[in-house]
Amino acid sequence: MSELEYQLDLLKAMNQKLTEKERMYQAVCESADGAFLYFSLDKTRICTLGQWKDFFDFDVRNGADVQRILDEVDESGAAELQRVLYLEKTGNETDAADCQLKTRRIWVRFRVRVFYDSDRRPVDKVIHITNITKQRYKDDELLYMAYYDSLTGLYNRNYFVRLLGEYIRNAEESNSIVSIMNIDIDEFNKVNDGMGIVMGDELVQQFGLFLKDLCQQDNMIACHLHRDVFCIAIYDPAGRRTAEYIYNAIRDRLKEPFRLSNGFDISITVSVGVAEYPEASRSALELINYAELVVFRVKSAGRNGIQYFNAPILNDYMDSVELENRLKEAVANKDFVLYYQPQYYTGNRRLRGVEALVRWRDSDGELIGPGTFIPVAEKNGSIITIGKWVVEESIRQYAEWRRQFGFPFIMSINISALQYKKENFVNFLLGVLDRYQVKPSEVELEITESVLIDDFGTVTEKLKVLRGYGIRISLDDFGTGFSSLSYLKKLPIDTLKIDKSFIDTVMTDASTRVITESILNMVKALGFESIAEGVQEEQQYKYLHAIGCDVIQGYLFGRPLPPKELEKVFAGNQQAQADR
Ligand code: C2E
Ligand code: MG
Ligand code: MG
Repeated sequence: MSELEYQLDLLKAMNQKLTEKERMYQAVCESADGAFLYFSLDKTRICTLGQWKDFFDFDVRNGADVQRILDEVDESGAAELQRVLYLEKTGNETDAADCQLKTRRIWVRFRVRVFYDSDRRPVDKVIHITNITKQRYKDDELLYMAYYDSLTGLYNRNYFVRLLGEYIRNAEESNSIVSIMNIDIDEFNKVNDGMGIVMGDELVQQFGLFLKDLCQQDNMIACHLHRDVFCIAIYDPAGRRTAEYIYNAIRDRLKEPFRLSNGFDISITVSVGVAEYPEASRSALELINYAELVVFRVKSAGRNGIQYFNAPILNDYMDSVELENRLKEAVANKDFVLYYQPQYYTGNRRLRGVEALVRWRDSDGELIGPGTFIPVAEKNGSIITIGKWVVEESIRQYAEWRRQFGFPFIMSINISALQYKKENFVNFLLGVLDRYQVKPSEVELEITESVLIDDFGTVTEKLKVLRGYGIRISLDDFGTGFSSLSYLKKLPIDTLKIDKSFIDTVMTDASTRVITESILNMVKALGFESIAEGVQEEQQYKYLHAIGCDVIQGYLFGRPLPPKELEKVFAGNQQAQADR
């Protein structure tokens, strides 16, 4: 073999070895995830390996091609990528840049590694390119969920509280004010109940998007607090003007209805409460609570309005918190007494019955009226315990009087919606009647329209069961609720009580007289008994007698009395009966 042939074979063998190695590298790169960009720094050679085509449709061989990579990525990531592409620092460092590719809309991570020789001179550089789109969206979604409300795109409660905390810290340093507006859609239930929660959500979403647009200024943040309630925080407002400005902008928008996807146009109003740092409170959560508290005020004053937090509102709130705590104690100690107000037949003025009216005797011996504590008891559920006691005590008392005085009458007991809805209510009542040997026909349950509101069908079924046992049912405070005359005929009741508010003006207002008379005609036609509540004047009595009202209850004939006082009335009644 000649020298030349030998050299040629050697070269071939080397070449083969080289291509074997290259093939090996290529195989490794191609089975790896993503693509590689290899730079031989000393030989200024650049090549691509792996799944390069998944990312770019051009090859990279020189510096100009590298520049094309930069042109391909979204602006927001370009600077970072430039740093990675031209990274040749000393030391064996790695670095990465995340960018979005403009045309393919995928997210890509460029991870770089530089290799150095023994003199710490950079020799090679490899950039590993991977598709991180999935991970990126997952991260974004998590990030989004952590900060935003998915329905409206507004901040969620947690993040809002955090931002509000920052507002407050800044305001503390710069002696500024932070206003919190709590915005609550009026009668949202009607939308939810009437059109379903999907439409309810849609309304919330549309209103939320409007608020989002409205609060684009730097010193404002808005959040979807819960259900139909939104909150806006304003940093350093220009006095009351900013909240007022937002409120007016909301009202302007609400002049137009919201169009829902079911084709309905919904018009809404909102109730707005405003509380300010530092006047109302220095704590973010307390400010939100106070603004919400003020909204309740607006709601009870008839909705569709704005109210600013003030000291009397706070005092009332504190009082109600205190009242609730004291009531809890009273329930545990059974610190209640029953008063009884007599009812008389209009024609012969004979005793028809008595209505049991509960009073709370507080630790100072003072009596607190049911108007003060029953709403609290209904809110915290203690009405169940109080109501049970009222039923038991009034029936026990009735049995005792019946024995003592010998004549029957009707014991009317007020039953609240919550009590009435308890499953075992009927059995409980029958148990008490049985224990004291009282006839069901001697007991009348007074219910208000609020009992009927939630579920008319189920409630009337239960009324039928009670009446099936012979228990009387009376509809109390008629005329103050939704009082539709048309539903009266579907109600299984015995008695209807015309509310005091009608009696108050019946002598002075002609239209009240018209209404009262038509109620009475209706009641008669349906075969119910009628009771007028709150009769205080002789004139009212005479008129009611003349138009055919069956029973009178009011201060004119008798105030609510404690048992011992009422016994004197009974003794007189006994005498009158004996005289007849
Ligand atoms: P109600 O059932 O409509 O009772 C009539 C209320 O009108 C009583 O007020 C009574 O004292 C008052 N009243 C009667 N005649 C006159 C009058 O001529 N002039 C005036 N100014 N007022 C008169 P009270 O005792 O303060 O009770 C208020 C309400 O509290 C009751 O209204 C009833 O809804 C509720 N309540 C009372 N006791 C109970 C109870 O044991 N359980 C439940 N759930 N509610 C009760
Ligand atoms: Mg009543
Ligand atoms: Mg009443």
